[in-house]
Parts: sequence; structure tokens; C-alpha cells
Amino acid sequence: MKVTRIAYSARLNAGKCAALVEQARRLGRVRSEVWQRYGSINGVGAGLRDRQVRDRWLADGTHVRFAVLANAWKETVRDAMADIAANLEAAKADVRRAINRRTVDPAERRRMFTALKADQWVDDPFLARQMRMHWKRGRNRRHDQIVVRADKYHTAVDGRGRLWLAIPGLEPRKMVRIPLSTTVAPTGTLRLILRGGRVEVHYQIDASQMRSSQRPCGEATIGVDKGYTEALTDSDGQPHGEQLGDLLTRESDRLKERNRRRAKLRSIANNAALRGDYAKAHRIKANNLGTIKRDRQAARHRARVRTEIFTAVHEVVDKAATVVAEDLTQRFTGRKNLPKNINRRLAAWTKGVTAEALKNVSERRGSALVHVNAAYTSQACHRCGRFGRRSGDRFHCTWCGVVWQADVNAAINILQRAGDPDIALHTPHQKVKQILQDRTDRHRTRLPVQDSSPATAGRRADHPNRSTMSNK
Ligand SMILES: [Zn+2]
Repeated sequence: MKVTRIAYSARLNAGKCAALVEQARRLGRVRSEVWQRYGSINGVGAGLRDRQVRDRWLADGTHVRFAVLANAWKETVRDAMADIAANLEAAKADVRRAINRRTVDPAERRRMFTALKADQWVDDPFLARQMRMHWKRGRNRRHDQIVVRADKYHTAVDGRGRLWLAIPGLEPRKMVRIPLSTTVAPTGTLRLILRGGRVEVHYQIDASQMRSSQRPCGEATIGVDKGYTEALTDSDGQPHGEQLGDLLTRESDRLKERNRRRAKLRSIANNAALRGDYAKAHRIKANNLGTIKRDRQAARHRARVRTEIFTAVHEVVDKAATVVAEDLTQRFTGRKNLPKNINRRLAAWTKGVTAEALKNVSERRGSALVHVNAAYTSQACHRCGRFGRRSGDRFHCTWCGVVWQADVNAAINILQRAGDPDIALHTPHQKVKQILQDRTDRHRTRLPVQDSSPATAGRRADHPNRSTMSNK
């Protein structure tokens, strides 16, 4: 598994920055040309390779008008062709779904899948129609990137221990030296992205090289419930990633305040423009309504939250050979429709990061991730199965007469779902509710089948001693 790492430039001078921006702009035109010419049926879909494109351009002199070095445009052509191929593959996924809907005949399905895979869909009316429908002609939007092949750059440490990255510029044999804010030298193919006056150096490393991947996983089977105050609560009653709630609350408060101020400034600028004071309007827009600082702060916050969540998942995997969790990716397909409300938007995004961390860390450290149906896991008592009342982070079961810590109760329920014979991952939630009610109606108590001791878990849940509770 590959993991992307990002190194940042440190105090890059304006001249170098402008030169890099110019190079990225010219390479953006290379990308646009590739998309324009080969972004549809005549390109990747017809089996055209980036090497063939390069040969054609060399033959007809297309490359000359971009005024960039040979290696730079060749790498860019390769990268753009890969983007087009990815775009095509995404369309094929949609078409495969359409095939499944259209026919139930296995032979016919196989024929269509094979034709699609081999890019021989032009002659099949149904496939051609579907491809036309789903393969939207894309266009290049990347005008801020430079791709540098592994053998075209070098790194060096100066006398003060600072790491410098030297990449080819616009003129032959003249390298642009970029100071980096890290001491770990990037490796492999680099993707330089110029954003907000600095350079982001994106590169990939093999996950097995990461120190955290060497850590062995635990032996227990553990259920986890995702939260807002803490990233995860496990079925042993332990919270993980306890800073998450604070991080999110602070960010949401900060964003609300900042948006309020920006709206005010914007209205001042607009009024000034209406009065004819364009200088003032321009001044406010340039000095007070910029995006550089805002974007950097957002990136820093995202990085902090990711660290908190990944650390939490590592803690769980320290104990677990099997992690049982709700499938957090399920209702997360409509990424475009994130809610407007800041709190909900942050929560939705956090959920995605938690899903990613669970998958990523489990894969790297060799623990199994089991997804279960989490319907009503936060509303039913894990001991008797009856529906109880939740207020804040407490869960009250009137039948047992016990107050559980709500997240721990949910985590234990999730753990028990892994051995549940009646509730499968995709059982509709109305049916889950029916099953749960039927069970308690018959006064039947389900006993968990897992190896982690639910008795201990129950006792811990009984006496919450977590900081989040005592704070209140
Ligand atoms: Zn109960």
C-alpha cells in the first residue's frame, strides 16, 4: 500500500516562486493540449499510450510551442494521460452498473464486461450509448503542478542542516533550489503543487516502510463506536482520541467568527465600490479577504484532526486482532452534498477520516476490520437488548435500572453485532428494530459470543471515570 507524504517549502524567495509558477503554467497548457486531443474516444480509450503521444509530438513539433524542457513536458504528458485513463475507468464503473441492471443473462453480461474492459465498446450500440452518457468529456484544471521524475532532481543538506531540493527550471542545466521545512528527503516521482505562495512536494512511500506499520496488532476482538467528543470509544470502555471534540469545537467557533468578520468586510468593500471608492474596495479585498492564510489554517486544522484520529485507531489496533466497527463509508457517497452547517460539515468530514484510518491502519498492521450493521446500537441496552433513553453521553436502561456510558454501550452493541445471526450488514433498519423488539418481547437475552469479556466491559461502562464525564 502506498501512502502520500507532503513536504513544504520554507521561506521560498519571490523570484524562484514566480519562476516555478510560470513553469507550472506552461505545463498546464501541455496538460490542456493532451486533454483536448486525447481526452475522448480517440485517445486512451483507443489504446493510445503516452509514449506514442510523445513520439507524435516530437514528429510534428507540437512540443516546441510550450517552451519547457523535454523531460518536463514528457512527464506531464504521461501524468495527463494517466488522469484521462482514471477518468475513463470511473466512467466504466458506472457502465458496469448499467450492464448489471440491463441483463441477468450471465453469458451476455460477461461478453459486455469483456468488451468494456478491452475498450471495444464502440461497435456495441448499448455500450457505446452508455459510454457516451457516463464518460463526460473532461478538461484540464491543473495549472499549478510540476511532475519531476526520480532521476531528474536531487536533494542536499546545507551547513546549517537545512534540506534543499533542486529541480530543473525553465532553462537547461539551471536547477531551481527549493529550501524544505523538513529533514526527510522526498523520494520517487515528485508532484510539486504551487499553492498560496509556497511549494507542496507530494510523493509516495510504501506503507511498509513506515515505522507505525511495523507495530504488531493486539489479540482481542474489539468493538468501536465513533464519537464527536472522542474519535473512538472501544467495547472495553476506553476512549481514544480524546482531543477530537475540543479540536472540532474550537475550529467551528473560529470559522463562525471568521466568516462573520469576512461578511462584514465584504459588505464594507461592496459599499465602497458602490460609492465609487474602488481603491478602498480593492485594498480590502487584497489585504483582508485573501485566501492564503485561510487555506493554510484550514490545512493545519485538517492535519491535527487526522493525527488525532489515526493515533486513536492505532491505540485500538494495539489491543485488537479484529476491530468491529460501523461501516462509516456507507452513507458517505454524496461528498458533493456536504451540509452547510459548519458543525455538521466537520462531523461528516471527520467520519470519512475515521473510516479511512480504520481501513488504512488495519491493512498496514495486519488486523482484521469487520463492518457491521450499526442500526440502533446507540439506542438499545447491550445487556438486556431493550430500547433505553439517551441523554447527553449517558444511556439509561429502565429495565436493568442502570446508567451506562452511552458510547461504551454502543461499542459493546457493535461488538455483539459481529456474532449476530439475524442482523446482517445490509439488513434494513426497520427490520433491525423489529428483530430487537421481538427478542425482548420473548424475554430472551442474547449472550455475546466474542472472546473479549463483556462482563468487564459492562462493569467499566457502569462506572464511567472518563474526563469528559467528570468535566460536566
Ligand atoms: Zn438493559
